[in-house]
Amino acid sequence: MTNCLFCKITNKEIESEVILENDDFLVFKDIHPKASVHVLIVPKKHIESVDHAGKDEVALLGEIFLTAKEAAKELGVSGGYRLQVNVGRDGGQEIDHIHMHLLADKKGEEVPLK
Ligand code: 5GP
Ligand code: ZN
Repeated sequence: MTNCLFCKITNKEIESEVILENDDFLVFKDIHPKASVHVLIVPKKHIESVDHAGKDEVALLGEIFLTAKEAAKELGVSGGYRLQVNVGRDGGQEIDHIHMHLLADKKGEEVPLK
């Protein structure tokens, strides 16, 4: 999708702080962190939201959890983190490209002020 922020980030047209990358996903730091660890797991394929996903995306929807697990390991928070997917404006979704938030609170690490 030409005018999608997360398509531009996943294809490296726009910079981000990358935590990990595999064939299907880019994991990068959220620009406005809501916890001491806050990253986004974003598929390289443009799907607008969970409401727009179908049977063709079943494998990708499974892989997003496994990629989140790998990211948690990389970030040193395995065993203690939250995964969140917002759907639609009323569900808090701002960016219309499906993504999963990974949040964790590391002891002694403050959330940076915006
Ligand atoms: P949503 O509300 O759609 O579930 O989550 C979108 C997230 O993307 C928000 O937490 C927001 O802070 C983050 N975000 C918005 N624009 C950018 C950006 O340009 N770069 C990065 N790294 N994160 C962004
Ligand atoms: Zn997109």
